[in-house]
Amino acid sequence: MKCPFCRQTNTEVYNTRGTKFGTQTWRRRRCLDCGQAFTTYEAPDLRFLKVAKSTGKPRSYSRAKLFSGLYAAFLDVPHKDETIDAVTDTIESKLLDLRQSQVSTQQIAVIVLSTLKHFNTAAFLRYLTTHTDLASPGQLARELKRY
Ligand SMILES: [Zn+2]
Repeated sequence: MKCPFCRQTNTEVYNTRGTKFGTQTWRRRRCLDCGQAFTTYEAPDLRFLKVAKSTGKPRSYSRAKLFSGLYAAFLDVPHKDETIDAVTDTIESKLLDLRQSQVSTQQIAVIVLSTLKHFNTAAFLRYLTTHTDLASPGQLARELKRY
C-alpha cells in the first residue's frame, strides 16, 4: 500500500485489531521511507447484498448510503463520525445476521430504528419521521409503539 504522505510503497503493519462487531479489521501502518504512521480499514465488500425498494430494481447495498442517512438523523454529538461509524457497524452486523442475499428498505428501517431507539432518542425520532410515511398522528403513535 502506498504511504498517503510520501506515496512510497514501503510500509509495515505494526498493530492489527478487529472492530467491535467484527465487521472491519483496523491496521496501523508505518512508512519505512518517511516514518509517518497511518491507519487502514479492511472490510468485506457487501455489494453482494441487494436492497429491494417498494418500486424499481433492487440495488447493491451501500454502506455510504446507510452512513449518510444516520448522519442526517444525529445532531452534533461528540465524536460524531466515530459514533455513526460504530452505529453503522452494528446495523450492518444485524443485516448480515439475517443471512439473506436480499433485504428490503423496510427491513433496514426496522433494524435502524430498533437500534437507534436504545441508543439516541432524538436520532430515532428524526430517522422515523424521515424514512417512514407518516400520514396521520395515529400512524405515528402506531410506529412509536412498534419499537
Ligand atoms: Zn511515507
